[in-house]
Amino acid sequence: MSNSPRLLTPGPLSIALDIKERMLTDLGSRDVEFRAITEEIRRYLLEIAGGTNNYAAVPLQGSGTFAIEAALMTFVGAADKVLVCVNGTYGARMAAMLRRHRRDCSVLSFPATVPVDVDQVEQALETDQSITHICFVHCETTTGIVNPYRALLASARQRGVVSVVDAMSSFGALDIDAARDEFDILVSSGNKCVEAPPGIAFAVVHNGLLKRKTTHATTYSLDLYDQWLNFEQTREWRTTPPTHVAQALHSALIALHAEGVSARHTRYSANCERLIAGMRRLDFEPVLDHEVQSPICVAFRSDRHVPNARVFDDLYNHLRAAGIVIYAKFHEETRSLRIGCIGQIEDVWIDDALAAVEDFAGRQNGRLRSHRSGGQAALQGAPS
Ligand SMILES: *Cc1c(COP(=O)(O)O)cnc(C)c1O
Repeated sequence: MSNSPRLLTPGPLSIALDIKERMLTDLGSRDVEFRAITEEIRRYLLEIAGGTNNYAAVPLQGSGTFAIEAALMTFVGAADKVLVCVNGTYGARMAAMLRRHRRDCSVLSFPATVPVDVDQVEQALETDQSITHICFVHCETTTGIVNPYRALLASARQRGVVSVVDAMSSFGALDIDAARDEFDILVSSGNKCVEAPPGIAFAVVHNGLLKRKTTHATTYSLDLYDQWLNFEQTREWRTTPPTHVAQALHSALIALHAEGVSARHTRYSANCERLIAGMRRLDFEPVLDHEVQSPICVAFRSDRHVPNARVFDDLYNHLRAAGIVIYAKFHEETRSLRIGCIGQIEDVWIDDALAAVEDFAGRQNGRLRSHRSGGQAALQGAPS
């Protein structure tokens, strides 16, 4: 038995013991064994992305954001213009990065509960012919909404604009196939549906983009082209890799390959359905329509039990005391709390989380009732 908290978060997540155990071995970063592991990581990533023929996988040290920023810096130049589709935190973050690097961008925004609208994207591309790139998030983890990934990529291809996909929380669980979808750049990391520890992100890049002349990075660490070239020429990372995390990622990719993306999707969907059914009974509703709800994480709203961020903090701490960790922030726009369904989650974890939420809701009711009846007998009479 592990005494780790049970993570019901959309990354980092609870991972398998044998994957953690891989981190007990110290390897030299330029050693032949580590180079072989690096090669295999790159090969598995490509295979899972469906990009064995025309793509390259470029791992990068750091969290997912590092690889997003590296992709934008490397592949968006001063003469380019980017259309950024935003319906949550991570889309907005891409726009913020581009602005910080003084790249020209225009933002197409949607409410957090509405998927990116393909017609509006096409209209924007039609209206502004100077747009060279489009960025969007596959599964916007802010609410767990799935954006129309294939239709957006089809529009990008038709218009000849370069696509940059944030697939951080979808790679490994949602259907991604480079050969079929022909994205240009897709970015993800090890610590979401790949079920590895945090520390390594990666981009899957179409070979046609990997040319010095057409890349633009002005930083050393975030130059994905240079990182790629170095892997190709030496099989080594340019700077010290997280060697232990890389070994764990290697094991996690072997496990993902063995399980299969669609079986992993099914496993997460079962977690998600169990959670939604239980939360509904407690008067918490998902903020998304069923058709756009991913099995990655669910945003729940209950104006009765969790009306604001202050009460959310109490609920968070109540769950934490029960050994359960959910996403730590209340989402003001949708007034929701977020619970992850990914990782090595056991059914009993979800049942225990539901019991803890029920207990909390009961105490809340008790508190309200005693407040109304004059403030005595706080916490008394938790209803069934
Ligand atoms: C988690 C996440 C990120 C950011 O990844 P970090 O590892 O926290 O830097 C970006 N986009 C999406 C869709 C995510 O889910």
